[in-house]
Amino acid sequence: MATPNFEIFSKVERGPPDAVFGIVDQFNKATAAWKALPPDHPEAGPDHKPISLVVGAYRDENGKPWVLPTVRQIEKEMAESPALDHEYLKITGLPEFLPAAQKLMFGVKDETIASAQVLSGTGALYVGFSFLHKHLGCTTLMIPDPTWPNHPNVAAAAGISVTKYPYYDRKTNSVLFDQMYDAISKAETNTIILMHPCAHNPTGMDLTMDQWEKLASLFQSRAATSPLIPFFDCAYQGYASGDLELDAAAVRHFLALGLPIIVAQSFSKTMGLYGERCGCLHLKCTSKDIATNVTSQLSSFIRATYSNPPGHGARIATALLTDETKYKSWLNDLKTMTDRLKSMRTALREGIEKAQAELPEAPKERKWDHITTQRGMFSFTGLTPQECKYLSEKHHIFLTGNGRVSIAGLNPSNVERVSRAIVDAVIHAPKE
Ligand code: PMP
Repeated sequence: MATPNFEIFSKVERGPPDAVFGIVDQFNKATAAWKALPPDHPEAGPDHKPISLVVGAYRDENGKPWVLPTVRQIEKEMAESPALDHEYLKITGLPEFLPAAQKLMFGVKDETIASAQVLSGTGALYVGFSFLHKHLGCTTLMIPDPTWPNHPNVAAAAGISVTKYPYYDRKTNSVLFDQMYDAISKAETNTIILMHPCAHNPTGMDLTMDQWEKLASLFQSRAATSPLIPFFDCAYQGYASGDLELDAAAVRHFLALGLPIIVAQSFSKTMGLYGERCGCLHLKCTSKDIATNVTSQLSSFIRATYSNPPGHGARIATALLTDETKYKSWLNDLKTMTDRLKSMRTALREGIEKAQAELPEAPKERKWDHITTQRGMFSFTGLTPQECKYLSEKHHIFLTGNGRVSIAGLNPSNVERVSRAIVDAVIHAPKE
């Protein structure tokens, strides 16, 4: 008998680390190394403890994950409910969740919108892109430059290629609306145009309502002859302005014009349900009948990929959205989060400006006012890749290489250290 060959996987090459979670791994390694230091080591103290400003997940003022008190309360009630079981949900999810999620996003429940509960925002993007590829023959997705680094990965997984539209000017820290508009107006027919309706990740800079209206008119004017597909990725409703309605204004404007919008709706950040994978995909159709057809195709796709979505997060979200008292209490929780983020933005800007003024060798022309102009979970600081590398190597402060800081990782105990380290990086990191 020939020697058996069990090395069927030996030709598999190692894949690249994820742009965000790869840095989390580096942070975790640095933390383990710091914890293992002997107490008399010069870097053993809290001033050298690694700090993560990487992932967009809310942290409380002690740097700890925060279960929203309203969510905690609902979970307690669920734990005591004899009616609750662990049966499969329907393929398109918890039926009562879908109209509640629609109401939150669109301000109304609408039977001409095909909706399915999916694996949070990422799952909504994947199911949405796959649907558009298969049923509308879409082959290209246009994303803002810059955007969430996972957008191209999800598109590739759905068989869709990616192009970019200009979005942000690093020199002036502002949105390049005219260039964005121009690029979208020249996009080929049937291109999916991905837009962040609020709290743009990573820049924290959104379009004004006036600009959204101009963009919507562009989609309208192309609809007759060379339609584009407007796709909103809404992962931060409530985080930009602190107001759920205002943050949905762009989506609702497109809807009011009757545009065939698609929305990926995530509950990860707004309800702190990150690991529960709670989200919805919505597609606005022109009739109830068409919406039923679209839902049936979403169902077939979901059944073939992961069968049906998880129940826990959707039950929490439904309780929270459909009970008036719980809804009000959630608004309070949201306010707690957005107020803390706002105060940390101010503290970071002031901390950097103070350190810059105090250190004679700091370049005074570097400006930081954009930190407080930007909104949402992140600040796009303008730090260069070299400065980011310097921050992790010299100060054990981790952020993504594009200079994006998760404001949620800041708290009163670390913001001064981070501010001073940033100014040190500006002075001493190698120049581009
Ligand atoms: N879109 C954007 C812009 C995001 O920032 C995120 C989360 N970082 C997502 C989608 C997806 O998040 P989730 O799958 O956890 O809902």
